[in-house]
Amino acid sequence: MLKKSIIIAIIFLAAGAVIYFLPKNNVFSQNSNPVLESKYREVSTIINPGDTFSIITENAGLSASTTNGLIMASKDVYDLASIRAGKEIKFFFDKQSNELQQMIYAINSEEELYIDLVDGVYRSEKKKIDYEIKIKTVSGTIDSSLYESAMAQNIDERAIIALADVFAWSIDFGMGIRVGDTYKFIYEERYRNGQYVMPGQVMAARFVNDGKVVEGFYYNEGIGDDNELIDGYYDPEGKSLEKIFLKNPVDFRYISSGFTTGLRYISAFNISTGHRAIDYAAALGTPIRTVGDGKIVFAGWSSQGYGYMVSVRHNSTYTTNYAHMSKILVKNGQSVKQGQTIGKVGSTGLSTGPHLHYEIVKNGTKINPMTLDMPAQKSIADTNLETYKNYIKDWQNKLN
Ligand SMILES: [Zn+2]
Repeated sequence: MLKKSIIIAIIFLAAGAVIYFLPKNNVFSQNSNPVLESKYREVSTIINPGDTFSIITENAGLSASTTNGLIMASKDVYDLASIRAGKEIKFFFDKQSNELQQMIYAINSEEELYIDLVDGVYRSEKKKIDYEIKIKTVSGTIDSSLYESAMAQNIDERAIIALADVFAWSIDFGMGIRVGDTYKFIYEERYRNGQYVMPGQVMAARFVNDGKVVEGFYYNEGIGDDNELIDGYYDPEGKSLEKIFLKNPVDFRYISSGFTTGLRYISAFNISTGHRAIDYAAALGTPIRTVGDGKIVFAGWSSQGYGYMVSVRHNSTYTTNYAHMSKILVKNGQSVKQGQTIGKVGSTGLSTGPHLHYEIVKNGTKINPMTLDMPAQKSIADTNLETYKNYIKDWQNKLN
């Protein structure tokens, strides 16, 4: 959910818009056979925004009847109308006959669609991508922000985001970080044919924030009654790290660094000044996300100096308010999901510069978001708890 959307956003940043023709030697890597490999010519294309499947096949030199054959072959397996910009399609042609032998489309990071010519007919199937996994351990100390510290170590940005996502409910990577905070995390790196592709699962992570240790371990309890995988990050006692509120209404990558030393305009919760909110300094247009599931109970202009403001009612106890927006992206009455973008940072109303004014209201009283500690949403089932605790021992040792 949250994690996936962020990773997709990053993939979009990396998406090119080119067609290239490459004689590759990893053709048919499933059954790597040099004779077979030399028999075929590969045409790879990265899908451009607006491209349809027939535009792509035409550009690759396929006839309309071959294109039809591919669409027919895949219709029960994958709808080729739902191919997406930024993804790759590979075509393999017989060098002699110039006939298309195979097409591979990367549906997502987990699965590929294969269409093969078998006895003159195209047949399709989805295959799970089998990555080679290497385990990587990374640790560091923060002197400005987690993002900068990790980037300085040449860690894949997607791995840093995955780490931040583990702690998205427990650590405010904006206001809550202190100089000297430390982190250590162990994650999978995915390789294919010896080439690094992307980070995989974060397996174990520890963050020491202002002296307080937070640990998270990935665990999967198997398939539940609703056929969904029961998995997630849990603390050493088996309590889920997921909570009803994210710690931060702005993704940590967008928060100005240096705020803890007062270099940027920012205000904390302060009863004596009457500022019962947190102000996050962030650039104009930065996405603002709702910290929890709920319903929009206000989306519009506030006459009390808040400018464009959105209020989300989460339950009978909690409402959160987001003010001074430059743009509102939700409507009154709409339901929203945790992490969903509801507007953009601005400086409307009584404001001296772009920032997000963020309030949590509990039973009608504004409370300090920094010190609010919500209970875990779920825990490892009692019957699995002992197995879980044994399982994490090894990871705990590795974190020590
Ligand atoms: Zn404020």
